[in-house]
Amino acid sequence: MARYRDAVCRLCRREGAKLFLKGDRCYKPSCPIEKRGTQPPGQHGNSMRRGKALVGYGQQLREKQKVKRIYFILEGQFRNYFEKAARQKGITGENLLFLLERRLDNAVYRAGFSTSRRQARQLVNHGHIEVNGRKVDIPSFQVKAGDVVSVKDASRKNPHIEGAWQTAAGRGRPSWIAPADGADMSARVASLPTRADVDRSINEQLIVELYSK
Ligand code: SF4
Repeated sequence: MARYRDAVCRLCRREGAKLFLKGDRCYKPSCPIEKRGTQPPGQHGNSMRRGKALVGYGQQLREKQKVKRIYFILEGQFRNYFEKAARQKGITGENLLFLLERRLDNAVYRAGFSTSRRQARQLVNHGHIEVNGRKVDIPSFQVKAGDVVSVKDASRKNPHIEGAWQTAAGRGRPSWIAPADGADMSARVASLPTRADVDRSINEQLIVELYSK
């Protein structure tokens, strides 16, 4: 997904759902999904309207693609997450979502340092982010309860980060990550994410069924 170069709004229309890939625009009435609904992209989008509900393999495949696109994960890495989730105790589908949620780039987005996961990944890659006071430039780094994720001092005047931070409160943050007491542009991982913190429209069981064939 990191190599996808086309207009990202087409991905939302393809999946028939808002995937929040484009920053602030996703929260405005100018979002194409808000304006035009979930019509599939392309000149035949309307005529190809999903009159027939997807079932079986098609439905499972679309759900996997949707989650990959939400978290900006390539196929091989996504498969690795699934295999790791399957080895863990608990419900495999939920384990998969928790592994994705705990990625550092997702935590940066959830904390409000960026307006999209794609932008969050850039911030991490470019060394703007610290975990417990030490620079971490690995987007897949897994945060754990008690970690403090922050923007490094020299980057706090970055207008993109400042803008995202100011609008984050309006978008809302999940309960597992919250601004750290008394520290600007810092957020604490208060607990591990729960299923209630992850997009409720995701049906992770479909992904489990797909990979279990
Ligand atoms: Fe998706 Fe955001 Fe584009 Fe709306 S603005 S279609 S949510 S990427």
